[in-house]
Amino acid sequence: MTAPFNPRGDVAVLVVAAGSGVRLGPGTPKALRLLGGEPLVRHALRAVHAAPSVGYVVVAAPPSDVDAMVALADPGTAVVAGGAHRQESVAYALAAVPDEFDIVLVHDAARALAPPSLVEEVAAAVRAGAQAVIPVLPVIDTVKAVDAEGRVVGTVDRSVLRIVQTPQGFRRTLLVTAHAAAVDAHTDDAGLVEKLGGTVHTVPGSEYAFKITTPADLARAEALLRAGS
Ligand code: C5P
Repeated sequence: MTAPFNPRGDVAVLVVAAGSGVRLGPGTPKALRLLGGEPLVRHALRAVHAAPSVGYVVVAAPPSDVDAMVALADPGTAVVAGGAHRQESVAYALAAVPDEFDIVLVHDAARALAPPSLVEEVAAAVRAGAQAVIPVLPVIDTVKAVDAEGRVVGTVDRSVLRIVQTPQGFRRTLLVTAHAAAVDAHTDDAGLVEKLGGTVHTVPGSEYAFKITTPADLARAEALLRAGS
């Protein structure tokens, strides 16, 4: 076991960084693509480490790039090989969390500019008693439902919809149970808790916690960095 990053922190953060990033175009796995001259995952890790609650960090790396990830992760950061899909990467990282951490946050490396304050807010909500917490933003676009031919069949009431971000926070025992019960690989961690019948709470998300998926997202992140965000 590696040493805790911040001995006072009561939160373990799983940074999932094993995706290939196909939608970003050809190249190295997404977490290793450069943003402001540094791999995306470095930005994500810097923010996570800057959050005072964080006592332990596990990164799920692309299986082909575990050594590269170890080389660029801060001392005290555990690195495991990720899985074939995100949920598997979370499960592998979760298995590497030392027993003493009762609060676990799951964070996408691709949300490279998510601020430390967001990590703190999610952690605080779990510490205050919530079993599962997700950061959310309101939906600003009009949303339509369409049929198989692409014809509009209705306008969805966006006031009840939210865009979901990470880090998502959990009581560790609930996250472990939810992953053990998982049958659908295509849901996020909070979705696994919902399937168990658990209550998922929300906290306000951050404009900076958007997921870098496409070249346009990367350009937006570059612009925000240049603007000194
Ligand atoms: O592919 P997508 O952008 O939805 O991935 C969200 C996060 O999950 C990214 O940070 C990505 O690196 C991670 N992921 C993973 N293992 C996979 C697939 C995605 O850790 N097999």
